Amino acid sequence: KWQSEAPIDYDPEKLRLQSMLNAAEKKRNSIDEVRKSLPVSKYRTEILDAIKNHNIICLSASTGSGKSTQIPAFLYESGFTKPPPGSSTPARIICTQPRRVACMSVAARVAEEQGVVLGRQVGYRIRYEDKTDPLATHIVFETEGILLREISSSPLLDNVSVLILDEVHERTKGMDVILGLTKALSIARPDLRIILMSATSNSQKMSQFFDGCPIFYVPGQAFPVDVHYLTSPEANYIAATVTTALQIHITQAVEGGDILAFLPGELEIITTCELIEDSMRKLGGRVPELVICPIYSTLPPEQQAKIFEPAPPGTRKIIVATNIAETSLTVDGIMYVIDCGYVKENQYSSRTNMEQLVTVPCSKASVDQRKGRAGRTGPGKCFRLWTRQSQYDLASETTPEILRSNLLDTVLQMKALGINDLLNFDFLDPPNSDLLISALESLYALKCLSPTGELTRLGRQMAELPLDPKLSAVLLHASEYSCVEEALTIVAMLSESGSLFIRPPPEKKMYAESAKSKWVSREGGDFGMFLRIYNDWVESDYSSFWCKDQYLNYKGLVRVRNARDQLEKLCDKVEIPMSSAGDDYIAIGKAFTAGFFQNAATLARDGQSYRTVKGGNNVFLHPSSVLKQMHPPVRTLLFYECVMTSKEYLRSCIPIEPSWLFEIAPHYHKKEVAEASKKMPRAPAKAKVAKADSISPGSKNPFPSDVTG
Ligand code: ADP
Repeated sequence: KWQSEAPIDYDPEKLRLQSMLNAAEKKRNSIDEVRKSLPVSKYRTEILDAIKNHNIICLSASTGSGKSTQIPAFLYESGFTKPPPGSSTPARIICTQPRRVACMSVAARVAEEQGVVLGRQVGYRIRYEDKTDPLATHIVFETEGILLREISSSPLLDNVSVLILDEVHERTKGMDVILGLTKALSIARPDLRIILMSATSNSQKMSQFFDGCPIFYVPGQAFPVDVHYLTSPEANYIAATVTTALQIHITQAVEGGDILAFLPGELEIITTCELIEDSMRKLGGRVPELVICPIYSTLPPEQQAKIFEPAPPGTRKIIVATNIAETSLTVDGIMYVIDCGYVKENQYSSRTNMEQLVTVPCSKASVDQRKGRAGRTGPGKCFRLWTRQSQYDLASETTPEILRSNLLDTVLQMKALGINDLLNFDFLDPPNSDLLISALESLYALKCLSPTGELTRLGRQMAELPLDPKLSAVLLHASEYSCVEEALTIVAMLSESGSLFIRPPPEKKMYAESAKSKWVSREGGDFGMFLRIYNDWVESDYSSFWCKDQYLNYKGLVRVRNARDQLEKLCDKVEIPMSSAGDDYIAIGKAFTAGFFQNAATLARDGQSYRTVKGGNNVFLHPSSVLKQMHPPVRTLLFYECVMTSKEYLRSCIPIEPSWLFEIAPHYHKKEVAEASKKMPRAPAKAKVAKADSISPGSKNPFPSDVTG
């Protein structure tokens, strides 16, 4: 019977297209539904009216309400980017984010919601990456640093119609400067709309700072969250996180929801993920699959996107995150939050002139934010890894960064913006004068400032480079030592140094370590290793296969290449001529001394630890530093950063001659210091001198037991 019917036209291509169109329409409808359901969408008209009627408003709504994604979109959809008369270029809506990850992720989401290609109508700008189109972009998500640069080249932000400062409650130091500048800008440009968005409800202080501007509260749609505390204190929060996560996963139905665990930093996150993975392997098929997604700022962007992918049916997702997931990124479907109660914070001491990344207890405001992540889509549970009693010890708010960190880059930026009277700048919370003075002294030591506090030519050149002033100083001085090419590579590599190596599977660990040992040299230290890796990659013709074989992160190296190319162009702009010294580590070491002379350390009498030349702090080589493998240990070195975990660790180091300190920075280092470190006792001769390439491949354990962060 069927066969006798008239044949139906069957065009596979047509069918394929039809099914693609159906899928796209379904996705569109679901995106529209999600957008409509967000709390801010219910107040669209009221919010737009408030923005039309006031040049500054504060908008306060809990995390996940749709502030970052919807407010720029509402403004775009209601004509706020119409080209000014006589122009065909759209006016721009700028929305700042404290983190690069959030710029990329929110821009991608808004582009998707608008059905446009990322980089055209909707784009983002972060350091070394500009995904906008000067003629077509209406909405730009950008970091605070990029906005500061933009203000220095266009103080009135001429082509901008709306400036949205997002996550102002985070109070980064960049944001605090922007707030002061914005106040002046609002007077100079009364037509500019300014929106200060915050996830916390205490916007009064902000409003008062802006002469009592209105505050718009969007009620959240929070569900109740049960809070559980430990009955007795637990020092090892990694083990406690793993146990809690597994207990939830084993005893609670996967359909209930996903888990979000907060840990202070990358290393804790990686360790936790590995321990969970191990335990899951041991449990075999007895429990449903657990999809483990780490997220921290140095994780390659392509892996970061994974946190937004829903777990396949019958499985559960656990996101193990830094405070990046506290307010910056919103992931749907979280029912359980595990909070270790700690965060990594930058702390600077003007006494020792050292900035450290320190693990500190979170504030009450911060743990409440974390708790809230469990109650977005339904009732949730929050497991706090501390006791009920100790909650009363928490500080109520996180100390703003400007009150506790090194202000070197901030002060340089402010000077470049023409702000000379720093003490009278309109800060929301004025920094301690010690911090300002210490930054001014360091900038003077770096020859950026004249004795009267004016920006020198060198200072102006430095401000042009999107780098920490010490790194800028290295590039500017590298031409004196004819090693600009090498300095550029090392500086670019330093920005990716955290995500350069790929973790090999356990059976390939030995192989990966021996691959790495060929880049190790005593004279070059970590900087030399970065240089050799990059040069070998260039020699492989930027091959991804080569990276895979060497357990290197290909996409990370692509970003290094991109950063290097951009820095090279900027060098041209600030008139730094190119030159190369090959692997002359004396030249390279001297160029880095010109920028990092304040970060010098000498071997201590115990022959293992180091003491900082200024301040005399006792510090240790980080286990990831190649100098840790040197016998005898190097006597004097420069370090790129000092990280405080269980001890104060120096990461990314290069050996130097002590005499260079006095030779290059006589205004900072006394001759006697250099001489004294020369006379240091030799390290106990416990091992014979090992040639770099004879180091045993397995000697470097990336997770030694004494490191927890
Ligand atoms: P807020 O700024 O108020 O914290 P967002 O605008 O960032 O809120 O997020 C609102 C909603 O948009 C989230 O609940 C989530 O559903 C969705 N969303 C945001 N970013 C992404 C993304 N990158 N991928 C998928 N969904 C996203």
